[in-house]
Amino acid sequence: MAHRTRRAALLAGCLALAVAGCGGAADVAEPTGTTTTTPATASPSNSPTSPTTSTRSGDVVVPSAAELRAGRSTPVEDPYYPDTSNPELDALHYFLDLGWDGDTLTGSATITFRATTATDAIRLGMSEALTASRVQLDGRQIDYTQADDGIELVTPGLAPGGTHTLTIGYAGTPESTPAPSRRGDQFEGLGWNTDDEGNVYSFQEPFGAFTWYPVNDHPSDEALYDARIRTEGDDVGVFNGEFGGLSEDGAASVTSWHVDEPVASYLTTIAIGPYTQHTGTTESGLEISYWLLPRDEDLLAGLEREGSTAFGWLEEHAGEYPFSTLGVVVVGGSSAMETQTMVTMSRGAVERADAVLLHEFAHQWYGDSVTPIDWRGMWINEGFAMYFQQWYEKDLGRPVYAGGVERWRSYDNESRLLSGPPGDYDPSSFADLNVYLGPAMMLDEIRKQIGDDEFEELVIAWAAEHANANVDRATFTRWVNDKTGQDLTRLIDRWLDSPRTPRPS
Ligand SMILES: [Zn+2]
Repeated sequence: MAHRTRRAALLAGCLALAVAGCGGAADVAEPTGTTTTTPATASPSNSPTSPTTSTRSGDVVVPSAAELRAGRSTPVEDPYYPDTSNPELDALHYFLDLGWDGDTLTGSATITFRATTATDAIRLGMSEALTASRVQLDGRQIDYTQADDGIELVTPGLAPGGTHTLTIGYAGTPESTPAPSRRGDQFEGLGWNTDDEGNVYSFQEPFGAFTWYPVNDHPSDEALYDARIRTEGDDVGVFNGEFGGLSEDGAASVTSWHVDEPVASYLTTIAIGPYTQHTGTTESGLEISYWLLPRDEDLLAGLEREGSTAFGWLEEHAGEYPFSTLGVVVVGGSSAMETQTMVTMSRGAVERADAVLLHEFAHQWYGDSVTPIDWRGMWINEGFAMYFQQWYEKDLGRPVYAGGVERWRSYDNESRLLSGPPGDYDPSSFADLNVYLGPAMMLDEIRKQIGDDEFEELVIAWAAEHANANVDRATFTRWVNDKTGQDLTRLIDRWLDSPRTPRPS
């Protein structure tokens, strides 16, 4: 996500930039071939594209065994938020069949998973605001209990390795959940939210997917997704991945979505409202869809320009785009989030002077494709995204976030004192500036150490060689040392562990 803070003094430079309204200085390329589609009258080009190797059993999307292999992970217990992780199972695929009438969410989650250990019970995150009504394991009803924002399923004799299918029907009015953070933007409430006009949106890092579907809500358990969203009136449901089209069912509209690559639950998104889809094409030929509410239509031209410029720049500096689709959905709230293949942007984030969209696009490579295995690795996400953000801003001659990496020392130092070092931060202070600025400054130190050319190759290779993988600090250090032929362990440790901002090397 992009960082924003209430502590005006800390980010005085950044806020000044925002007030100055510094966008538009760059020479930007016009996107080509822009089309606009109102989903209710979806054109044939928006007709469903079903994965050809999937089989459909009745109404439920069931991937083939070969496809499911891409959803395999090695789930771990989180060192900071252990209650959110359930390493006894590895979710491979979620099929979410959701209905929203403006008040009640009615859902059916079909979860294909494998047990990772012999167990008589498995637990998933599931909000107490949602009531399960029907729970089946491999087609047979099983016992369950709901408590503490989880659902405990009785699974006698479950052996490790086998693939099973769990179906949970549920309903309720979703409630967001408090965040382990001092930040004031999206962390007012994680997960499912509704804005003043009743439109649904979600921000859910580090957890919050459990507020709207049963889930192993942890980055170490990435999975494939299909979703179907049934809405009423003019409302349209938006999710990650490839838009499979809109169909009408009586007075209801139903959108379907397919996610081709494994995604962590904090990177799923849902938005519901009277959305219109606008599709532009980048210079390299990728379609970017912009999903806008009527109130935000005035943002379209600027978003398309910035999207095309930012994406083209990232293809040059981060390498080949790791996914098959890309979209942006503009929602309520006040933040921005790198939700995989469908970036979630509040109106305020679109209007900010610094390069928020570039930041969230950069995360598609650094965070979404290459994902930390647990929340100790938040710096891996934000260090790269911030480094790329200031690099892009400098490269295009734009005003740089908080004055640029050379001027971040005092902000970083203050945040370390408040929230701990980036490699071992205070868990109650999630996503403070300490995990953004210090790790980006560390990358800058690595660049100085190895030189610009080698650094530019290094960041592209890091994303390419760890695509769709979970990584941690040991992976990063070992790989960087190996790749550069230098022992950078001490440099990395100093920047990640020091209670104050280290001196430059
Ligand atoms: Zn970010």
